[in-house]
Amino acid sequence: MSRVLIVEDEAHLAQGLRFNLQAEGHAVDVACDGETAIEKLVEKKERFDAVVLDVMLPGKSGFDVAALLREKKNYVPVLMLTARGRPEDVLAGFAAGADDYLAKPFELAILIARLDSLLRRSVWMKDAEPAGDGTGVELPVPERQLETGGDTFNFCGKSIDFQELELRTLGNTIHLTVMEAEFLRYLVRSEGRIVSRKSILEEVWGLHEDTDTRAIDNFVVRLRRYIEEDPSRPKHLQTVRGVGYRFVAEPE
Ligand code: CA
Repeated sequence: MSRVLIVEDEAHLAQGLRFNLQAEGHAVDVACDGETAIEKLVEKKERFDAVVLDVMLPGKSGFDVAALLREKKNYVPVLMLTARGRPEDVLAGFAAGADDYLAKPFELAILIARLDSLLRRSVWMKDAEPAGDGTGVELPVPERQLETGGDTFNFCGKSIDFQELELRTLGNTIHLTVMEAEFLRYLVRSEGRIVSRKSILEEVWGLHEDTDTRAIDNFVVRLRRYIEEDPSRPKHLQTVRGVGYRFVAEPE
C-alpha cells in the first residue's frame, strides 16, 4: 500500500481525491494548506510515497512547499496541480522541484496514471536506499536485450522501456516518471542533433514560451544521474553551450 499526501485547500476536491485514491488501494492523508504539509513532511518527518500538491494554496504556495522540501533534502515524488493556461506555473513548478504536473481541471484517470508512475519511482528510491531495516529488495538484473520489439531503445548496455517507464542498466532498474520518459524519448528521437531548450519545452511539455528557461535543467541533472557513468562529465546527454542539449547514444 502506498501513502499519498494530498495538499489541497478546496475541501470537496480534496475529499473526492481522497475517496478515489483510497479506492485505488492507497492510504491517503490530506493537508489543507502548505504549512500543514510542511509540518507533516519536514517537521514530523512522516513518510509518504508521493504528494499531490496544489499550487494555489492559502499562505505558502505549492511552489514554496516543493522548494522547501527539496531544500530539506526530501525527495518525495511531487505531482503538482497547476491552473490550466498558465505555463509559467508549470515552469515554476519544475524549477521548484516538482516531478510532474497536471493542469486543473483534470481527468481523474490521468491523475491516477501519473501518480502511479511517481509511486513506481518511489518504490525504486526505497530499494536504492542503503539496506538497514532488512527489508531491502534485490533488484533483478535485466536480461541483455540487443534486439527488442516494443517501445524500447538500447544504448551502451542500457535499455529504455518507454512502455513500462523503466531504464535498465546492468544491475539496476530505474523507474522513470512520465515526463522523464517523454524527455528521453524526445532526446532519443533527435539522437546526435542539437535540441534547444525551446524545442524541448514545446515537444515534451507542450509549452510555447518565448522565455528562455532553466526549468528543464533539473530534469537534465536527474537524467544524467540515471544514464551517465560520471554525471559531472556527461557523455550521453551533452550540454551545447548557449544552445541546448545533444543526446549521443554511443559516444566515442
Ligand atoms: Ca487550491
